[in-house]
Amino acid sequence: MPDQTLVEVAGLSKRFGDVEVLKHVDLAVRAGEKLAVIGPSGSGKTTLLRCIAHLEKPSAGHVTIAGERVGSKLADGRVVEMSDREIARIRTGIGMVFQRFNLFPHLTALENILLGPLKVLRMPREQAEPIALGLLAKVGLAHKRDAYPERLSGGQQQRVAIARSLAMQPKLMLFDEATSALDPELVGEVLNVIRQLAREGMTMLIVTHEMQFAEDVADRIIVMDHGSIVDEGPPHELFRSPSHPRTQAFLRAVLERQAMATSSAA
Ligand code: ADP
Ligand code: MG
Repeated sequence: MPDQTLVEVAGLSKRFGDVEVLKHVDLAVRAGEKLAVIGPSGSGKTTLLRCIAHLEKPSAGHVTIAGERVGSKLADGRVVEMSDREIARIRTGIGMVFQRFNLFPHLTALENILLGPLKVLRMPREQAEPIALGLLAKVGLAHKRDAYPERLSGGQQQRVAIARSLAMQPKLMLFDEATSALDPELVGEVLNVIRQLAREGMTMLIVTHEMQFAEDVADRIIVMDHGSIVDEGPPHELFRSPSHPRTQAFLRAVLERQAMATSSAA
């Protein structure tokens, strides 16, 4: 039986100065698993994703992706730092979509998607272009191939950003509040693209405040608070009968915020 764990986080701690924002986090994500990460602002969700992608260097512990340690490796029985180049190579296997789209403003939708395959994967253009066009079609934007980001809505930009990540053929996708900068009417189109990816079997870690979406798409949810995973379980159990007091408090706060948003919109 092959090892089905794609991402392993072991004893991961991260401090910024005196503040420990991740405290000895252990987590394993199976290949094909969709894991939603919820929890209050400041609980360490973004830092966890950034450590997994090695955009932050852990203060202790380590992250293993597809059996390969990110950031350090064993050589002659000793742990040595990886070069920036080796880290960059591993990072190409991880797609990241953040709150802000970060498309290059001077490049069209198609050129934004082509950049990684051409420059990083060194694919010939005649090979990369059909793939990029296919991805644009997949996110419903084939007709926007020549549009510059400023001519695209926030939802469209975020869909191009997802296509751009997919062009690198990632093993793993990390979504960090991918819809929280969007106008409410544009959220659905982006969530639908993520849902589609989920159905296709992509392994994903999804930080989100969209509880209904988390419930629909996730196989498992983890709840973070003060730098630790305080609760976890299948969405149905976690939402319907949260046993942990901190999960209860967080869900109550989310529901209150939603109720307030609904009443102020009315
Ligand atoms: P979340 O995504 O759950 O809102 P973050 O991972 O962004 O939480 O942040 C966790 C804590 O770490 C917060 O208190 C935040 O202020 C702090 N933090 C995050 N990044 C940095 C940084 N680069 N320098 C100092 N503190 C940071
Ligand atoms: Mg965050």
